[in-house]
Amino acid sequence: MTFDWNAHRFSGGVLALDLANTVIFRETPDRAEDRFADLSELQRFAVAAAHFRKGEWGEAQFHAPVRQPDISKLMDAREAINTLFRTAVRGGGLKPENMTRFLQLGSTLVCDEPGTQDLTLPNPVDAGRSLSLGTAAFLSGLRLLEPQRLERIKICPNCHWLYFDESRNRSRRWCDMTVCGNRAKAQRHYRRNKDQPGHGNV
Ligand SMILES: [Zn+2]
Repeated sequence: MTFDWNAHRFSGGVLALDLANTVIFRETPDRAEDRFADLSELQRFAVAAAHFRKGEWGEAQFHAPVRQPDISKLMDAREAINTLFRTAVRGGGLKPENMTRFLQLGSTLVCDEPGTQDLTLPNPVDAGRSLSLGTAAFLSGLRLLEPQRLERIKICPNCHWLYFDESRNRSRRWCDMTVCGNRAKAQRHYRRNKDQPGHGNV
């Protein structure tokens, strides 16, 4: 089945969080769904990410892992990014064990890059580096460690995605107002009507 990697799937706002968000409903394990259960989605995600993350990465390109050990590293990095930032947003801070895992995996990914690779942090005027998806997500995550950036990371109450709130007063409540915001509005409307006397009478 092909899956549409549209703008909504990149509501995370930065590559590190978009990668973590390839699992939806993370906080309700029975509903959780991994978009990379079908490994062919990795390459499609990498192509879409280069398109939707130009504001962060300029013309950089990302390549998805092909060999199983490299796929495992990417998946582990994805989980490390998720744990590190989700714990921080939940008030647990940047914990040493989570940071260690993130840095260790990042180090492994960086080590696999060619010796000529430029590991500058993401920037919107990038002329077109080609990086592995894992290295790019790691560099994207490194930028989020700055306190002013860290405090802008939030968790969507509907889909549990992590997202970077760039609004001036940090007032964004949903990963994507047009999807999760509207869904929540519809649910509130349904509950309100349900509580009205007479509802359910035929
Ligand atoms: Zn959401």
